[in-house]
Amino acid sequence: MDIKSKIRVIEDFPEKGISFKDITTLIKDGEAFQEVVNRIVDDLKAREVDYIAGPEARGFLLGAAVAYALGIGFIPIRKPGKLPAETVKHEYELEYGNNTLEIHFDAIEKGKKVAIVDDLLATGGTVLSAVKLIESIGGEVVALEFLIELEFLKGRDKLSNYHTNSLVKYD
Ligand code: AMP
Repeated sequence: MDIKSKIRVIEDFPEKGISFKDITTLIKDGEAFQEVVNRIVDDLKAREVDYIAGPEARGFLLGAAVAYALGIGFIPIRKPGKLPAETVKHEYELEYGNNTLEIHFDAIEKGKKVAIVDDLLATGGTVLSAVKLIESIGGEVVALEFLIELEFLKGRDKLSNYHTNSLVKYD
């Protein structure tokens, strides 16, 4: 299946110069959604992953589906003030603007293997922030999984210590 053809591209959103990759058109297509989840699951099967973690909000859509398919748990990484128990925080820069992410400090038992799933790899700031949060509470990051990679932003160069997989690339 041509997954790329299911992604809608909106120019100059949310600001001028950004070519926004809209996955709502893909995930409303049941077959395409299933194909994407299955392809991520296939890449993770041999890695003995204990948990999937995903940053809000689009990381939840894919990450929770991947976790369900693997029969393992999902750990949310959220914007500040959303998680109810004690958290750890990390601040980073986006392709557009700044962001802070949080994780529950007790979300991952020491040494557990975690794969991070998100919709898109741009500069790598978001996923690196998620990596730092997971490692800071004792988790081991074993894989980074993306539906989309914006290759021209070279986010992958920052992630050379981690297995990094993406299904659809734009250059
Ligand atoms: P980055 O931290 O630069 O790798 O940006 C990745 C995060 O920002 C992902 O969680 C995406 O949801 C979002 N994002 C960044 N750039 C785009 C884009 N061009 N289209 C859609 N989402 C984007």
